[in-house]
Amino acid sequence: MSSMPGIGAKTATRMALNILRKPQADAREMAEALAELHKSIQLCSCCLTFSEDDPCAICADPERDESIVCVVEQPGDLIAIEKTDTYRGHYHILHGVLSPIDGIGPDEIKINELLARIDSNRIEEILIATSSTVPGEATASYLIDRLQTLSIKLTRLACGIPMGMDIKHADKYTLAKAIERRSHAS
Ligand SMILES: [Zn+2]
Repeated sequence: MSSMPGIGAKTATRMALNILRKPQADAREMAEALAELHKSIQLCSCCLTFSEDDPCAICADPERDESIVCVVEQPGDLIAIEKTDTYRGHYHILHGVLSPIDGIGPDEIKINELLARIDSNRIEEILIATSSTVPGEATASYLIDRLQTLSIKLTRLACGIPMGMDIKHADKYTLAKAIERRSHAS
C-alpha cells in the first residue's frame, strides 16, 4: 500500500493492521472489490479519464460545450474542477507532467493524443489547467509552444491570491503571478 501516492510506510502499516483486525471475509471482499475496479474501469478513448463507460459521461453529455477542452494532469483534477459546478466544457487528461529529471518527456504523457484530438475536432479553445508547480508550469509552457501556431484560443487558469487571504500574507511568487495574470475588473 505504501506504493500508493500519498501513503507512506507508517500509514501503510496502520492500514494493514486495521485490515488484520477485521474478519477475514471483510479482507477478501475488499480484495475482490479492488480486482473488480481494475476490470470495470478503463480509459475514456476521448478525454482519457478513468471511466466505466467509453465514452465517459462527460464526453457523452450533449449539453456540454465541445469547443472548449480543459487540459489537466490527472483524473483527480477533473473531479476537483467538476465540483466547482462552473465549467461546462470537455477535458483532456495528460496522465502526468513533463519532468526531464525523471525521464518524463512529451511522449511519456498524453500530449500526442491531445494534438490528434485537436486535429480531428472543432476545438476553439484549450484551457491549460496544470498545477502551478515547476513541472506543471513546464508542461503548460510546452503546450503553449506546441499549440500557439494553431488557430486556437489558448487560456490558462488564473492564479493568485486564495479567497479570504490578506494580500500581505501571500508569498511574493503568488503575488507576482497574480499581477502578471490580472484580469478585467467586473
Ligand atoms: Zn471522456
